[in-house]
Amino acid sequence: MNQLPFLPFTKPNIDEATIAAVGDVLRSGWITTGPKCQQLESALSELFGGRPVRCFANGTATMEVALRVAGIGPGDEVITTPISWVSTANVILTVGAKPVFVDIDLSTRNLNLELVKAAITPATKAIMPVYLSGLPVDIDQLYEIADHYQLRVIEDAAQALGSHWQGNLIGSSHQHRSDLVSFSFQANKNMTSIEGGCLVMNHADEANLAQRLRLQGVTRTGLDGMEVDVLGGKHNMTDVNAVIGIHQLAQLSEFMVKRKALVKHYFQLFEQSKLIEYGVILPIADMHHSNWHMFQVLLPIEQLKTRHQNRSTVMQALKDQGIGTGAHYPIITDFKLYKNLGYQSTNTPVAQQVGQAILTLPLFPLMTNQDVERVVHSLENVFAQFH
Ligand SMILES: *Cc1c(COP(=O)(O)O)cnc(C)c1O
Repeated sequence: MNQLPFLPFTKPNIDEATIAAVGDVLRSGWITTGPKCQQLESALSELFGGRPVRCFANGTATMEVALRVAGIGPGDEVITTPISWVSTANVILTVGAKPVFVDIDLSTRNLNLELVKAAITPATKAIMPVYLSGLPVDIDQLYEIADHYQLRVIEDAAQALGSHWQGNLIGSSHQHRSDLVSFSFQANKNMTSIEGGCLVMNHADEANLAQRLRLQGVTRTGLDGMEVDVLGGKHNMTDVNAVIGIHQLAQLSEFMVKRKALVKHYFQLFEQSKLIEYGVILPIADMHHSNWHMFQVLLPIEQLKTRHQNRSTVMQALKDQGIGTGAHYPIITDFKLYKNLGYQSTNTPVAQQVGQAILTLPLFPLMTNQDVERVVHSLENVFAQFH
């Protein structure tokens, strides 16, 4: 029926030079963690103003190591958001600590920092903010709270590589405070190594510990010296993944320029459309801080309900028109694992609402303005149909 090819909500952008470089690594005789991983770490460290960086097998492992580097474990509470990829909360449980979910702000869809203050107890050890779709929280306010209560910050910046706070790159600490910052290079992120992640740290001691935690706690000396002084995991990044990351990192700014141009087109078209009238809510039109990892709208769920529709029927109707979408994310506290631990989504009503209403529209550098037009027109058709 539909002549146009299916438009997914995201798609990686891997060029031929990257594919050739993977072949070179495979032929080199050194395919696991080695020179390419070190090269990627150096390039990232340079990007972040010389701060120490270590790479890991994925963003989840990166966050787990970050928590361990910060010394967080049983008896400790970590404040975080219930609107994230579930791994944010899972890693807190993995290290034996307790996730404390604080409600989000309706417009930023990130942690409400005023509510964070109210959730701090003597057991609180860290705040773990998530920069949903690449929009950071108010970094000044975040660190003001952290410093005042002497808390660690583990920034889940999985989606925020290339994002800024007031002109300063997230992960660097040139003009603003920055503690531990975790990024992901999973296939859908703005830059990918297929799977992978990196942690930006404060000093060499932390980097050393992170490196041991990455590989069974092992330190090697000389030709045959080996020591294990801490329980580490198997979280190292292979050189095959690293070389993809090196090539992607070189294209990151170019990717971001394309994302921003597409986002501007989205805003123009939405403003001319009837979608706002139908009750669709746009993200904050931030062109300074966000790297635009995703373009996410909120659907008018209550209005849709009166017409026996919901997010799923909207997604299906869009899919029928060849448009892929996503739901990032359902509220974590509604998952059985978390319900069984006693969490209740009613304690975070804004997150509950956003978890049901949020819809990710297609956005990736290979898209064209025509694709954006297709998405907005299809969404208009769906709402006209549902009206
Ligand atoms: C992708 C992502 C992660 C996890 O990264 P992986 O590399 O998939 O393990 C964590 N938090 C957020 C917000 C993410 O988007």
